[in-house]
Amino acid sequence: MAASGKLASFRLPPLPTVGELIKLYNLRAEKQLSQNFLLDLRLTDKLVRQAGSLKDAHVCEVGPGPGGLTRSILNAGAADLLVVEKDSRFIPGLKLLSEAAPGRMRIVHGDILTYRMDRGFPVNISKPWEGEPPNLHVIGNLPFNVSTLLIIKWLENMANRTGPFAYGRTRLTLTFQKEVAERLTASTNSKQRSRLSIMAQYLCTVRNCFTIPGRAFVPKPDVDVGIVHFTPLVQPQIQQPFQLVEKVVRNVFQFRRKYCHKGVGKLFPEACRIELTQEMMQKADVDPILRPTELTIPHFRALADAYAHLCTQEPSLLSYDFREELRRKHLAGRRNTPVDTFIDM
Ligand code: SAM
Repeated sequence: MAASGKLASFRLPPLPTVGELIKLYNLRAEKQLSQNFLLDLRLTDKLVRQAGSLKDAHVCEVGPGPGGLTRSILNAGAADLLVVEKDSRFIPGLKLLSEAAPGRMRIVHGDILTYRMDRGFPVNISKPWEGEPPNLHVIGNLPFNVSTLLIIKWLENMANRTGPFAYGRTRLTLTFQKEVAERLTASTNSKQRSRLSIMAQYLCTVRNCFTIPGRAFVPKPDVDVGIVHFTPLVQPQIQQPFQLVEKVVRNVFQFRRKYCHKGVGKLFPEACRIELTQEMMQKADVDPILRPTELTIPHFRALADAYAHLCTQEPSLLSYDFREELRRKHLAGRRNTPVDTFIDM
């Protein structure tokens, strides 16, 4: 009985429905901003449950919009909810919600891509990286282009223990276009295995929780939506700087249908490409005729370690970019082309 009494105290008092709020404040979804609202509170409750227990939790909700997901977070017992919303039209509706949950909800009118989350919460909620995750969660249903950009930025933050991860191993529960959710969680040999799979999985446990059909959103997007939950690992599976890992993974996957040595080769200047590629593959003990999608995280760890070793021997390799070499060659070729060649053409 006491437990249900406690639960009842989380619940919001009667409020206009999210649909009524949208009408009241004339909150038409902006197509250019890819705004698709989730108004079914059973679905927002289900999404919020994927984060785990929110009792007494600190939560950052990204892009609350008309506040459907926000209500579910408050009803789940969050003690301190910070919402970051870019579109000023939503602020009055969010204020109404915040008044219904006194002392539990803070509103930031700003851009999550630049917001300093490392300053948004009290320092004393931090937990040592090696311990349990802090009682801080990031939850959001963002436009697809923003959520992909954000997860790349947050993975880098995770590697450097900055941003939301200045407090410890903060957990994230976010929406993505279904295909992106599948890429984030794809295992070795699967068709969706990609750069995102490696970058996410070497740093965290990634779970593809469930899919929401596009028709559940208002207005309906052209695609279905996947909910993905991330828990940072105590020990990343690759112990090299994020930028270096990203460079190796990006190079390998740029020729995703070819043998992996082809992408690895592009890490090196043409003049020494064959020799250094061979050295790197041997040092890593990776079969050069595996395809990128066949490589496991330990394969990528061995490749990143071997590349880091070569870079300590020859530091200029780190800044080498084969596209830059191609561009220079192309320009030099044009400068050396005799003028009458153009006249003849
Ligand atoms: N959370 C609401 C829901 O589930 O119904 C709204 C979802 S809508 C797909 C995305 C929301 O993110 C919109 O309210 C939009 O204004 C907001 N948004 C878009 N880009 C943003 C950014 N860079 N920073 C903060 N909010 C952003």
